[in-house]
Amino acid sequence: MKKIAVYPGSFDPITNGHIDILQRAISLFDEVIVLVSNNSKKSCNFTALERKEIIEETLIELGIKNVTVEINEGLTVRWAKERGAYHLIRGLREVTDFEYEFQMASANEFADKEVDTIFFMARNNTSFISSSAIMELYKNGVDVSPLVPNSVVKRLNK
Ligand code: ADP
Repeated sequence: MKKIAVYPGSFDPITNGHIDILQRAISLFDEVIVLVSNNSKKSCNFTALERKEIIEETLIELGIKNVTVEINEGLTVRWAKERGAYHLIRGLREVTDFEYEFQMASANEFADKEVDTIFFMARNNTSFISSSAIMELYKNGVDVSPLVPNSVVKRLNK
């Protein structure tokens, strides 16, 4: 049976930190689905469709295979299981991530015990990279191109 994992997140926009996690996940699974969240309560810099398109451009740019991108508005664990995916992928940066991630993983476990969450620790000097930091730096005129894929730089400059 094909081993599929789902990597859910806002990806607003995708960063080199996300990409590092994604590449490590691909090495463990046959297929990874990047699931762009479309939470109307959270205000985002890019629409869900734009975030999806940027990720798809990034996959082509970096030649990343066995990854697809989709948008979700419902419960992630339910969505995952409907596609035959029993693992969620998340990343951990500083301790501050832990609290939130532990709560999310526990809530997901409560919703469906068959879907487990796997965590990758940030590495390669990416632990300070977040989508919000990228946007803050960019808005203040800092060159963010070493921290994000080209497709993001192109969108930002549009
Ligand atoms: P969300 O709003 O769901 O937290 P994000 O796009 O901010 O979505 O993050 C998605 C996942 O990727 C989270 O688990 C986050 O901790 C992880 N992540 C983001 N940036 C990094 C990074 N630089 N290193 C490791 N993990 C990261």
